[in-house]
Formats: sequence, C-alpha cells, structure tokens
Amino acid sequence: MAYHRLKEGDSAHSHAYRPTIAHRARTREQHSGNEETNTVTSIDSTKADHETTLTSVDPATGDVIGSYPIADEQAVHAAVAKARKAAATWGALSFDERRAHLLRWASRLVADSDEFCALIHAENGKPLDDAFLELMLALEHISWAAKQAKKVLSPQKISPGALMSNFAARIEMRPLGVVGVIGPWNYPVYTPNGSIGYALAAGNTVVFKPSEFSTGIGNFLAEAFVKANPELPEGIFVAINGYGATGAALVDSEVDKIAFTGSTATGKKIMAAAAKTLKPVLLECGGKDAVIVAPDADVRAAADAVAWGATSNSGQTCAGVERVYVDRSVREEFIEQLRTILAKVEPGSGADAEYGPMTMPSQVDIVRRHIDSALSNGATAVLGGPESVRAPFIDPVVLLDADENSDAVQEETFGPTVTIRTTDTVDEAIELANKSKYGLSSAVYSRKNGLAIARRLNVGATSVNSVLGFAAIPGLPFGGVGDSGIGRIHGEFGLREFARPHSIAVQRFAIPGMALLSYARTKSTMKLLRRLVPVLHGRHK
Ligand code: NAD
Repeated sequence: MAYHRLKEGDSAHSHAYRPTIAHRARTREQHSGNEETNTVTSIDSTKADHETTLTSVDPATGDVIGSYPIADEQAVHAAVAKARKAAATWGALSFDERRAHLLRWASRLVADSDEFCALIHAENGKPLDDAFLELMLALEHISWAAKQAKKVLSPQKISPGALMSNFAARIEMRPLGVVGVIGPWNYPVYTPNGSIGYALAAGNTVVFKPSEFSTGIGNFLAEAFVKANPELPEGIFVAINGYGATGAALVDSEVDKIAFTGSTATGKKIMAAAAKTLKPVLLECGGKDAVIVAPDADVRAAADAVAWGATSNSGQTCAGVERVYVDRSVREEFIEQLRTILAKVEPGSGADAEYGPMTMPSQVDIVRRHIDSALSNGATAVLGGPESVRAPFIDPVVLLDADENSDAVQEETFGPTVTIRTTDTVDEAIELANKSKYGLSSAVYSRKNGLAIARRLNVGATSVNSVLGFAAIPGLPFGGVGDSGIGRIHGEFGLREFARPHSIAVQRFAIPGMALLSYARTKSTMKLLRRLVPVLHGRHK
C-alpha cells in the first residue's frame, strides 16, 4: 500500500502558525514513558523534572513546531492564584454576560479556523478536514453550554413538604471556583473543551494543562478566549504547559476540582493524589468499545461505520470502534464489505489523507503487540497484519476471531485495527460486549431491535445504527463506567459537574405549637406529630 509521502511544502513550517523557535529539541520518543504495557502509554510524570522547555514536533516528520516554557510547581501555583482572583469577576457575571463572552470566543475560533486547523494538522497529524470537524464539534459544545447554563443552573424553588410548610426552600448552584483541566492529545480541542467550555459557562475560571503532544493547540485555544474578550481580567482561562509533572502539580494545587481526560493509568494516579485533600475529580479515561451487528442489520451501513469508527484519527479515539460482534448469518457479507472499504483507506501526512500518523510514537509498539497477540491467539488477519505497522503510519488491520481473553480484545489498542468475533445469538454478543473492564460507549446495528439491545449494554453511551452519534449531540452526557472513568462531560450533567448546589431554607413564619427544631417544642406538638405521621407515611399496604 502506498503512503502519501511528505512533499516539500507539506511540512508544519509551511503553515501559517509559527510559535517560538525551540530552545532544546526533544523528540517525542524521549517524552514517552510506557508505564503500563497493556494500556495506552502514560507519560512518566517524573521524567521531565529537570527540563525547563517543552518542544512540540510534527508527528509525521519530526519537524519542530514550537517550544514552550515548562510550568514548575511555583508557576502552577501562580497560574491558579491568578485564576482565583479572576474567579471573583467571572463568577459574579450574569449567565447572559458569560454567554456573550463565550460566544465571542467561539466566533474568534471561527475567524481563525484556517490557522487553527493548520496547527492541529501539524501538531497532531490529523488531516485538515478532520481538524475542522473537531473544531466544529467543540464549537457546538461551547455554544450549547453558553446558552443552556442559565436554564440548567438558575436557582430552583423546592417544595418544603407538609411538615415544613412554613418554610420556603430553594437550591442555588454556585461555581466551584477554579477548575484544573488536564487534557489528552488525540482530540486536543474537542475533548478538553468538554470540561473547559462547561466549567466556564458554569462560572468557574480554568487552568488548563494540555497534553505535551498538543501544547500549541491548547495555547491557541486559551489565547483565542483572551483575544475575543480583551476587556476581561487576566486569568479566566489560562494554559500552563508541561509533562505529567506539571499535571501532577496542578492536581496538588489549590484548584477546586480536577477534570481529567486521558489514560486510565493516569486517571487512577490523579484520583489517588486528589484523595489527599478530598478534591473532587472528573475522569474521562480509556475505552474498548464494541459494535454489535445483529442478524437484521443494514450490513453495508454497519461496515461503513465500523471502517470509519475503527480507523479515523488513526484509531486514536477513546470511543472509537475496537471490537465487533457480528452475527454468523451476516458475517461473510459484513467482512467482505468492510474489507472492500478499508482496502482503499490509506494513512498519510498530506492535509487530505484519510487519516494521519500515530501521534505518539510509543503507541506504535502497543498496536504491533496487540496484532501479534491476536494472531498468536487464534485470529486470522482478514486485512493487513504485522506488516501494516510502518511507523509513524499504520494501515488498517482487521482481525477475525481472536481469543476473547487476548490483549487485542481486552486492552485499549488505540490504533487503526479492529477485532471481529462471530456470534450465534444476540445474547452472546451482548454478553461478550459487556465482558470488559472498560465501558465508555458502544454501537448497535439492527433494523428492529437496536434500542432493546442498547439498553442491555453496560456503558455510558450507545449509538444505534451509527457510530459515535452521541458525541456530536451536545445535550447528551458523555462518560463511562468501570475503567472508562467517573462523572460526565456535556449536556446538563456536564454543567452540573462544575457547580455545587447550595440549599437554602427560609422560615417565613413560625407555626404556633409546631417549633420542631427548638427546645420550645411542646408535648402537644409531639402528640400532633404522632397523629400526623401515620396519615402521611403509614397508609400504604
Ligand atoms: P495520558 O494519561 O498519558 O495523558 C493525559 C494527560 O495527563 C496529559 O496532559 C499528561 O501530561 C497528563 N499527566 C500524565 N501524568 C500525570 C500525572 N501523574 N498527574 C497529572 N497529570 C498527568 O493520556 P493521553 O495519551 O494523552 O491520551 C490518550 C488516552 O486518553 C486514551 O486512553 C484515551 O482513551 C483517553 N481519552 C479518553 C477520552 C474520554 O472522553 N473518555 C477522550 C480522549 C482520550
């Protein structure tokens, strides 16, 4: 299979975005620490302790894109202090005022979208159109959060109940204060924005530590907010740069919540660190998402969706398709369709390739190991194989009937590969799909029973007759169960993650003889209550 080789003029340097020249070039290989061999590579937070500068490079070429000072503990605290000061202003604005500022930020990103997408293409490797689609989805979420925050978080009157009828009760949602957001590199705009946009809309300020593999992109996002809103004080949305150690310093800082998106291994470390101060965490972690292709599926549509869901973004999608359970009755047709579609799909570094290089070099070894693991555990490669791995690119690989206990089926691969298992009943497919420590999302292809099958899947989200549909609907919460994480971004649940309810009970008048919460309570009050309680609660047989 031919690759789109990098042509002169294709390199990152040809793009409009040019950050500062690197002081000390470090390659991506040097950055990666493979802490858990079975999961997506985690960055060793101690590895870069002695470094003062982070250099970002184009994953296809190794060309230097930019260089950024690393925020040490002191710099992290300074950023959080600045955000704390700004929180007094931002948190005191009305929902309508915040909405206007957030929508201006979105419009600024639209105005700068050519430059931004060129940077996303250069630093992450994904094709320009994919970069634009990612930006578009992020804009949908900024807009949704900005417009819905008032409805979702406005004060609510609550019925006080018969015994407390002399009270008025209400819930007022307060911003948490400063939210620390730690992001991954695979969807460097869309993914962290599920926390940033919603935290800002709820009235918090944000300190954002982008992934070391998407530092330029993270800074562009934060700078666009400042450019769009020059009249606001500094510190409402700030980016700090660095490796895992900078993220760890943010977790240890005075932020009021950590919203993390990344690998399960790092998520666990963050939760343990946050436990020291009972800091709340939102964890959006890895996945091993399954697609069920039922006997009554539109097989062509299922193959088309699986082809894209498994390989787009080089398979580096938390909710991408990693496993397929296909009914025996449609298996041959499904495999043939999938093979036909994927045989024409090629990775490359050109702006219009179908998908790009692996963004993080150390992930290539994991993908290679999973292909080997499938093949040595009974699988047949129906497309590609070990030879498909030609770093930094990996051709699509389709593996049929691997042992369900192999790493290829149990661990997150995060590459353009997919395993297919033949099943004899829908019940078997559901059971196997649920037999995973992860539970992020899933998809079902069935003309008649899609919803019924979806309801039996132990995951945070399911698309019926589509893949990843839920991720593009801003009102739907996004997040997983088990090793896929804790909490939800997006939608009403996503806004509430960044606010705390403050319950207020106001005594409007005293009821003579009914002073329940006082030593002035009388015997006749208790007599009355003993008659009242059976009426209120004792009538159900
Ligand atoms: P990662 O865990 O290696 O890094 C994520 C972030 O955590 C980076 O910014 C990193 O610098 C930081 N970090 C590393 N060690 C830290 C520590 N000890 N304390 C604080 N921060 C630390 O993950 P990644 O490789 O950037 O991202 C890929 C993973 O993210 C995959 O597992 C993928 O499934 C997952 N992901 C999940 C979602 C979701 O919404 N559930 C979305 C995108 C990606």
